[in-house]
Parts: sequence; structure tokens; C-alpha cells
Amino acid sequence: FTVLAIESSADDTCAAVVTSDRKILSNVVIKQLSLHEKYGGIEPMTAIQAHQRNLPFAVSRALKEAGTDIVKDIDGIAFTRGPGMPGCLSVGMNGAKTMAAALNKPIVGVHHMQGHALTPLLTSDEADLPQFPFLTLLVSGGHTLLLLAESNVKFNILINTVDQAVGRVIDKVSTLLQIPWTPLGPGDALEKYCQDVPETALISLGNSIMRGRRDFSFSGLHSQIELYLKDNGGIEALDDAQRRALAFSFQYNAFAQLEDKIKLALQSCEMQSIAINHLVVSGGVASNQYLRQRLSACLKEYSPERDIGLVFPPPKYCTDNAVMIAWASMPRFLAGDSDDYGVGLQPKWSIEDLTPP
Ligand code: ATP
Ligand code: FE
Repeated sequence: FTVLAIESSADDTCAAVVTSDRKILSNVVIKQLSLHEKYGGIEPMTAIQAHQRNLPFAVSRALKEAGTDIVKDIDGIAFTRGPGMPGCLSVGMNGAKTMAAALNKPIVGVHHMQGHALTPLLTSDEADLPQFPFLTLLVSGGHTLLLLAESNVKFNILINTVDQAVGRVIDKVSTLLQIPWTPLGPGDALEKYCQDVPETALISLGNSIMRGRRDFSFSGLHSQIELYLKDNGGIEALDDAQRRALAFSFQYNAFAQLEDKIKLALQSCEMQSIAINHLVVSGGVASNQYLRQRLSACLKEYSPERDIGLVFPPPKYCTDNAVMIAWASMPRFLAGDSDDYGVGLQPKWSIEDLTPP
């Protein structure tokens, strides 16, 4: 079964072709970063207009690079139904539904975070595939979730954020510290900016980990950075080494909080006799190499004798892409299930409320 998928929930216009036997035939991502840098975040109308301009080219390139003919080779069309920015989602959804109706192909509307969560089941080698149930950490621009993944469609939220998503705060702090964006954006820029800072340079930022609490919260850490800048005469008063040390201290504390909650979730699974053999990490922040090192050390420390496998998709499949949307649609298509052409968006949609095939 071959799926053409479209993803347009935030600022990337994505199209991809993926087969049910795990082949990624194409993966087109058209970024809009330069359009949004001056706003310090995604500007909705600018994003909608860019999707409108870019979507036809993303789709035709995805088909061409895959060497597929839409009439002969594509068996189903998938798109992101939610969660995400309504105006952005509707550009992708309308494109997908109109193509499908004209060509008489089935459609499946996919949950964006289910796409992020299931990516490692496509990108890992078949021998290393995580087996259900596993723990999933989704860290992205709009979400910070620790989930128990029981099947392709059954996710239980163990720990959620009470305020902002970790990716959003990374973007804000990167802007606050005036770190110039790299082509991959403010998160990648912050990671590279502080990659050579040693732990001896850490600045104390107060208690932002909330040890033992079953919630994520990143607003406190965000405020600590603002307060530090205010108390030290603003960003202009800091030299390059001080700025880099502050950026590293922020990243260090944000990831320490992720580690603390992973340990809590593992303990809670143990208490319920749920055997967890894998921690799967996905979403844009999972492309951070320092996070990979930290979580690997964290799992070894938590369980020196029992190997809990750590699974990250390759960085280009951590941030938004349509490959993950195609892959998440596959179980429904294969079960002969699809959505009605009249299906609507679901801009707010819990990952606990997925439709089984
Ligand atoms: P959501 O998936 O919650 O709807 P989104 O789709 O906007 O949000 P993603 O594309 O999954 O988010 O991830 C983007 C986020 O990932 C941004 O906040 C960005 O800063 C962060 N990010 C990307 N690369 C890195 C990196 N190397 N280090 C840290 N954060 C990163
Ligand atoms: Fe995303």
C-alpha cells in the first residue's frame, strides 16, 4: 500500500510518499523560518499564505522524487487533521481531500502527535524495533508529554505540561539571548551556541526541576532567565562567554527536568508491574544531540543492570515531516478503514482520543 501524505500543522509545508513495507520513497519539507524570524515565532497569516504558495510544489516534488504516478501508484492520501494551527491545517486538509475526491482515493486524517510518536517504528532497524508497551517522551514546539504507548492507537498520558511546551520555551530563550537562527531554527541555534560550554561554567538558576512532581513546567525556568538578565544589566551587559554559559545553564536545567519525570514515569510503571524495555523520544527537541547523551546516561543510572533501550529517530524525522503522517495512517488504510471526504479538522485533539481502525 502506497500513501501520499501532507503535513501543514505549523510552519513547515511537507509532503511524502511511504509504502506499507516501510520504504520512505520521498520526504519534502519546505521551511518558512526566514519569514517568521522577525516575529520571534510563527505568525499565523504569514504561515497560511506560505502553505498556500508551497503546497502544490511540495506535492509534485514528493511524487516526482518517489518516481510515483498519482493515478496509478498512490493507493491512499493522508493529511494532518490536528492538533495544530487551524488555518495552516486547513490548507493541507483541503489539498488532500480535493485530490482524493477527484481521483477517487481513500483518505485518512492523522493526529500530528501520533505521527511523532510512531516515527521510531518506521525509522529503527527491524531488529531494534521497540515493542509495546513502551514509554514515549514527546518534546516539540507545542507539546511536552510522557506517554505509555500500549499500541498504535492507545496512548496514556502519564505526565503533561501545566504551562508551556519545552520547545516553545527553547525558542523564546534563544530569541531572548539574541542567538542568530541557524537554517534549522532557534532550537538548533541554541544547541550549537552552547555545545562547547563545560559543566563547570553552569550558572545556578534556582529550583526549576520540581523534583517528584508529576507535571512538567517550563515557565519558571523561562522566568529565571528573564530575571537573571534583569539582575545583570540585560543581555547587552553580558560578554560572549557569559551568554553561552547562560544558554547552556538553561538547556541543562530544562533537560534535567525531563530526566526527573522520566524516572518518575519508569518508577510508576514498575509499581504497576508494567515491564518497560524502551524509551522512545520524538518531536523537534529530540533532534538535540546533547539531550540524547543526557537521556542515555539517565537510563544507565536508573537501571544499571537492566538495559532500557533508548530510541530516537534520525534528526530530520524528529521535526515536522509528512513521512510520519503517512506512516501513522497506514494501519487504518491496511484495515480497509478511511475517513469520509466531509471529515473536518480537529485543531484541539488529545492523543488519548484516537480512532482504532
Ligand atoms: P507540535 O509537534 O507540538 O505540534 P511543532 O510541530 O511546531 O509542535 P516540531 O516541529 O515537532 O514542533 O518541533 C519544533 C520544536 O523543536 C521547536 O520548538 C524547536 O526549537 C525545537 N527544536 C528543533 N531542533 C532543536 C534542537 N536541536 N534542540 C532543541 N530544540 C530543537
Ligand atoms: Fe510537530
